[in-house]
Amino acid sequence: MVKEKLFAKMSRKKIVAGNWKMNLIAQEAIALVEAIAQLKQNNTAVELMVFPPAIYLQALQHTSLKVGAQNFHPAEKGAFTGELSLNQLKDVGASIVLIGHSERRELFLESNSFLKEKVDAAIAHKMPIIFCCGEPLSIREAGTALEFVTQQLTESLFHLSPAQIVDVTIAYEPIWAIGTGKTATVEEAEAMHKGIRAAIEAHYQSSEIADSVSILYGGSCNATNAAELFACPNVDGGLIGGAALDAASFIAIANAF
Ligand code: PEP
Repeated sequence: MVKEKLFAKMSRKKIVAGNWKMNLIAQEAIALVEAIAQLKQNNTAVELMVFPPAIYLQALQHTSLKVGAQNFHPAEKGAFTGELSLNQLKDVGASIVLIGHSERRELFLESNSFLKEKVDAAIAHKMPIIFCCGEPLSIREAGTALEFVTQQLTESLFHLSPAQIVDVTIAYEPIWAIGTGKTATVEEAEAMHKGIRAAIEAHYQSSEIADSVSILYGGSCNATNAAELFACPNVDGGLIGGAALDAASFIAIANAF
């Protein structure tokens, strides 16, 4: 049993992704991507990707790292002032998108049903997805975090077919841990990741499907705590905010596997 679980983890993609949020100007973004690409050398065990501000995607599109978009609008085009479509983002080199980051949910009021529209648009464009989920502190303290996260997945993601869900990467990011310096304990992270995998298995009636979905942890993950988080059987990498803005820290996190 332990051997089987180990095999399942080994066969899932390991990913370390940097969410740069609304930080850096062009020169800094280019310098950071170059420094990361140089430091990563031949570490092929982990897929590295960065999510810069969208205006810098074009300048970064020839890097050896995968580059993605932090946000997009699900419509094909039209009167959505200030928004960007998937076609536009693809045009400037985005090859993956974040959906459902808690800052989009909380600050820009993106609901589970709107996020479902984004998921469907990305699938229609064959655009790979990192789907973020996670509970606020009040829900964690009420002891209903897994139910809350399962509802996020159910309402935005679980309508996908088995063939579609296996290509989605999930990032579990407890909101109380994002940018706070307060990381989930190894026990809390593993319990939630295991719970998410169990929810996938229950919904799709398949342990193979559940075992093939990569689930990343996000929330004050850094060079010091990454190794113990990544050693958890159900943690397949990290979505990194603050520590992704420093090439050495980001690479140290990637090397923590
Ligand atoms: C994030 O915003 O996705 C994140 C994990 O941020 P931080 O690492 O800074 O907590």
